[in-house]
Amino acid sequence: MAKLKGAKRINKIINEFTEKNFGIQAEMGFEFQAFCGSRLINYTFVMTSKSINYFKADAETRFPEVQADIFLWCLMHEIGHCMTDNMWSFEEQAYFDAQKEMLAYIERDCDRYSWYHVLPDEYMATRFAGEYMKAHPKKMAKFWNKLVPAIMNFYEKNSLMED
Ligand SMILES: [Zn+2]
Repeated sequence: MAKLKGAKRINKIINEFTEKNFGIQAEMGFEFQAFCGSRLINYTFVMTSKSINYFKADAETRFPEVQADIFLWCLMHEIGHCMTDNMWSFEEQAYFDAQKEMLAYIERDCDRYSWYHVLPDEYMATRFAGEYMKAHPKKMAKFWNKLVPAIMNFYEKNSLMED
């Protein structure tokens, strides 16, 4: 990951945002993920997973007034996990995790994900993301406008963009 050109700049911009507003650190990883005990989230620009489309549909249906790129939705959702994890006891979180493991056996994607998003921890993480972005549109726009040129630069430097 560290070898990708321009990644440092992106990481700096994202961390300025996540540390200042939420006391959370962010690292580029292979997927969006929250490590709430460590106040750390991972983010990625490779969003190929089918689950992303279902996540986007769920978020946008619940918060149609929020105009945000899917990257921001995903980032804010992971932050939402860390900001809401004190709502759950150890047993509750273990129960949600066990439910997610069981959902992996549901064959149809739409069935699996419609159950996934109503699990209380997922529901509340997206709620946090949506409520926060709804309440702070200027802050989000400022962050995004700073981040986009860094992302474009990252794509260009690493030849990730097709002509
Ligand atoms: Zn989640």
